[in-house]
Amino acid sequence: SKQSGRNTYRVYLEEMSEKTKQKFQLENALPEAIVKNQLTLHYQPKVSVMTDEVVGFEALVRWNHPELGLIMPGEFIPLIDESNLIIHLGEWVIQQVIEQLSRWRQIGAPLLPVAINISGHHLHSDNLAGFVSKLTQRFDIDGALLEFEITEGVLTGNTEQSIAAMKALKKTNIRLSIDDFGTGYSSLSYLKKFPVDVLKIDQAFIRECQSKREDAAICKTIITLGKSLGLQIIAEGVETIEQLTFLKQHDCDIYQGYYFSRPIPAENILPLLEQRLPA
Ligand code: C2E
Ligand code: CA
Ligand code: CA
Ligand code: CA
Repeated sequence: SKQSGRNTYRVYLEEMSEKTKQKFQLENALPEAIVKNQLTLHYQPKVSVMTDEVVGFEALVRWNHPELGLIMPGEFIPLIDESNLIIHLGEWVIQQVIEQLSRWRQIGAPLLPVAINISGHHLHSDNLAGFVSKLTQRFDIDGALLEFEITEGVLTGNTEQSIAAMKALKKTNIRLSIDDFGTGYSSLSYLKKFPVDVLKIDQAFIRECQSKREDAAICKTIITLGKSLGLQIIAEGVETIEQLTFLKQHDCDIYQGYYFSRPIPAENILPLLEQRLPA
């Protein structure tokens, strides 16, 4: 009826304004979140498909909000992705990771590469490579211990600018990977233009690689052609033994996912590193 239609509309408006209010609250609180130590990084292991050895980690940010509790990056990164705040956050993440590597080294733990998600706005900003090389020098950390993950969508929109930024980063020895690969519209031949080392197959294709012919075909194609271009292939979002078996059969290099481990706090990473010390 008209009546209920109007009510629905009003409820909708109220919900919208609640959402908008929360969005503003988050946006306004975020600059302080860094200063007040409310952000934290969790690390998700990257694992060799063939040997089950941990070969690296991905750093993923979380926000411990005093009233709202733990907020996942999907809720706040999109709010700041186009603003300079994303650069501020990105620099915080890079510094945290480098300091973490240097703490692990201090206690004698073996060091494995850590991947960091870099937003397009940050990649295309003036001083990313300079910031990285200053910090790696200050903490005496080899750039090869860092990997920057850049989503495919960022690269397809800004080819020339992206190539220049990536080349500058390669000079610091950093490894570069294309994240969420398969969701954008780049062809594999177009990949040759980018100085990348790694392709991460988007988890949307891994989810049903066992049951959907099309998804299986996409995964197989990315693995085969990516490897023939000399790239390392990572599958993300691996949750089941069946998915892992598929990846083994098709010679994928590395996997990440709940099947092995969720992203976990740094202190829980240490036992994984220590396992790698010779007995
Ligand atoms: P992403 O880079 O594609 O990261 C993978 C996401 O999948 C993470 O969610 C991870 O926790 C989740 N994941 C890992 N394994 C599994 C699995 O087996 N099953 C399922 N269903 N999910 C899995 P998270 O941590 O919530 O991060 C979401 C997105 O937020 C990331 O997607 C990335 O785009 C962004 N993000 C996270 N941390 C940062 C950061 O420090 N900087 C920037 N710019 N973006 C970040
Ligand atoms: Ca990522
Ligand atoms: Ca991804
Ligand atoms: Ca993603």
